[in-house]
Amino acid sequence: MIYADNAATTKTSPAARQAMLDAMERFWGNPSSLHTPGQQAREALQTAREAVARAIGAQPREICFTSGGSEADNQAIVSAARVGAKKGKKHLVTTAIEHHAVLHTMDQLSKEGFEVTLIPVDESGIVKVEDVAAALREDTALVSVMFANNEIGTIQPIAEIGALCRERGVPFHTDAVQAVGHLPIDVNAQNIDMLSLSGHKFHGPRGVGALYVRRGAPLLPFIHGGAQESGRRAGTENLPAILGMAAALEDSLAHMEENSAHAAGLRDALIEKLSQIPHAALNGHRERRLPGNVSFCFEGIEGESLLLLLDDKGIAASSGSACTSGSLDPSHVLLAIGRPHEVAHGSLRLTLDRSNTMEEVEAIAQAAKEVVTYLRDMSPVWKALQRGERSYVIQ
Ligand SMILES: *Cc1c(COP(=O)(O)O)cnc(C)c1O
Repeated sequence: MIYADNAATTKTSPAARQAMLDAMERFWGNPSSLHTPGQQAREALQTAREAVARAIGAQPREICFTSGGSEADNQAIVSAARVGAKKGKKHLVTTAIEHHAVLHTMDQLSKEGFEVTLIPVDESGIVKVEDVAAALREDTALVSVMFANNEIGTIQPIAEIGALCRERGVPFHTDAVQAVGHLPIDVNAQNIDMLSLSGHKFHGPRGVGALYVRRGAPLLPFIHGGAQESGRRAGTENLPAILGMAAALEDSLAHMEENSAHAAGLRDALIEKLSQIPHAALNGHRERRLPGNVSFCFEGIEGESLLLLLDDKGIAASSGSACTSGSLDPSHVLLAIGRPHEVAHGSLRLTLDRSNTMEEVEAIAQAAKEVVTYLRDMSPVWKALQRGERSYVIQ
């Protein structure tokens, strides 16, 4: 099987697996206990916290471990909203292309009386800093803009948006789940107040993540109970997962440059090959995109059938549409960059990383060409396009 769905999850690295085994064998004590096994676990937890902090230029006490990226997003946004509301600030700013962990949290808050401004993106999926500036108000409690998009890979001007928020005194959160371990991040240089990350997007285990919270940034406890995570998140720490995540992150950082050069080379080759398919268009920005991200729309076909046929050919890919959730709605991200519904349905996302090879890229391109041709031959929409009864959206 060729695995080309690294934006969905990554294979756990040997370093992460070893750290998890060590945690279970050696650090099974409760970090809150005062005896030796407890204190050993506590030290291991502190070492992991330092590693995660170092990876983004933060202080260890600014790292709060969570159950993953979704929890970190929820806690950051709900906290900032509640703290803002106490000061009469009930306006939240985010973008149209966020992950659902952000968008659905915002939806929930809007039902509770908050006003949410969704900033649009341009046709390449980039958020304009001036649009963020224009959205800011006296009563804005939070700006949340993702670092890099999970579907189309676009990388946002985070440092500029951070500088703007800093200048205007508005807390700034970024969902950096797709970026951490893949792109250089420095929360100080980039003026980030809160940042979400998730272990399983950089070869760590799933079910674990972290929220970076700058000292003084608005954070409220989300899970109540014990005093773990300095009172910011109760519950006995998931030490195997936390240590596995920290080991995976250190490993990713140590090899970030070579890994990203490798993935970008594969990405560019695959984009080049898929661009040869007629009436196909790359989604997202050509340069400002994640190293391994390839996202296309093919006119006249359904992304779901494309995926299933690729799976039959031994290729694990993804479609932009939310078919897995049982929804037939096309992806909100593809709609936001201006793809019409019928084109947004024909999307394919291939996310490559350090373990993929050029031979795999060739096999993927070959299979995609065959499958697209096969599906188009059966498609009434494609036939109508060919006969000139409809006009092509993608030239
Ligand atoms: C995967 C992902 C999340 C959710 O992270 P989990 O750890 O799976 O909860 C949030 N945001 C983005 C951009 C993601 O890619």
